[in-house]
Amino acid sequence: MKNINKIAVMTSGGDSPGMNAAIRSVVRTCAYYQKDCIGIYRGYQGMIEGDFVELKARSVNNIINKGGTILKTARSKEFRTKEGREKAFLNLKKHEIDALVVIGGDGSFTGALVFNTEFNFPIIGIPGTIDNDIFGTSHTIGFDTALNTAVEAIDKIRDTASSHNRLFFVEVMGRDAGFIALNAGVGAGAEEILIPEENLGLERMLESLKKSRKSGKSSSIVVVAEGDKSGKNVFELADYVEKNLPDYEARVSVLGHMQRGGAPSCFDRVLASRLGVKAVELLLENKTNLMVGLRNNEVITTGIKEAIKGGHTIDKELLRVSDIMSI
Ligand code: ATP
Repeated sequence: MKNINKIAVMTSGGDSPGMNAAIRSVVRTCAYYQKDCIGIYRGYQGMIEGDFVELKARSVNNIINKGGTILKTARSKEFRTKEGREKAFLNLKKHEIDALVVIGGDGSFTGALVFNTEFNFPIIGIPGTIDNDIFGTSHTIGFDTALNTAVEAIDKIRDTASSHNRLFFVEVMGRDAGFIALNAGVGAGAEEILIPEENLGLERMLESLKKSRKSGKSSSIVVVAEGDKSGKNVFELADYVEKNLPDYEARVSVLGHMQRGGAPSCFDRVLASRLGVKAVELLLENKTNLMVGLRNNEVITTGIKEAIKGGHTIDKELLRVSDIMSI
């Protein structure tokens, strides 16, 4: 057994609400086990530049409720090179750091795996991304908050849509994954939901809108994931509907980065706290190359390689529910 006395923690890739709660959990768990904890600023770039800070239990007071990440985050080109990773390794050695917790998405985990393979450095991943696109966990940290933000915004848009008898196309985040669109769409009662995983075709959307007009609906919301594969962006979709269904007056709202920010939901705070404890405990047991996650409300672990490659499939049952609801 290798003695693990000093653990570093960092956030990497896109920020997500709840990352601070995860940092806090890692720091406090280290303190609980009387281990030292080091925060690395700006992800892998900070690791290369030696941008480190000592974190004690009290260093993370009053951050559980804060969005973003106190350690900042970055995307590092240099870490993709062998020389960059060597510099990073030397910095960890210089500071006598024995193991690393990476809070981020699949890109950050890929970097961690490459680093482990080259330097045999113990690493554990915590999934922090609003996209929920990671295999090995039902929820990533930040997804629940982003969903709630999107639903709240769509609710407000609905007020305008129904006052003016309008059709609104609301674009939500998700370049490659439709989890936010599908869940927020069902939660906000959308008429149609367009996601990258399922291209149901534009004809189907027109049919559905025609049907709802006939059935007496005066306003509608269509939720569109950024990466939907209809071949049209959200503005083109609105034009297309107006051309083909002149009864409709269509408007577009792009929610954008507001979905990443804000105070984390209670769910994300609890999830982050649980995953942070498990991540540190795994390292203290000399485990490495694992990602911590949630399944059936139990904290579980998945090989980090599997987590990167596995992909996370959309819930077909939820798609069916959405269809039934939009009758
Ligand atoms: P998000 O899901 O929010 O985009 P992410 O963790 O997937 O988060 P990326 O930008 O893909 O974000 O990855 C974060 C960082 O991980 C990169 O900037 C890079 O420094 C490192 N990284 C990613 N892939 C590799 C790789 N193949 N080799 C070395 N480092 C990598």
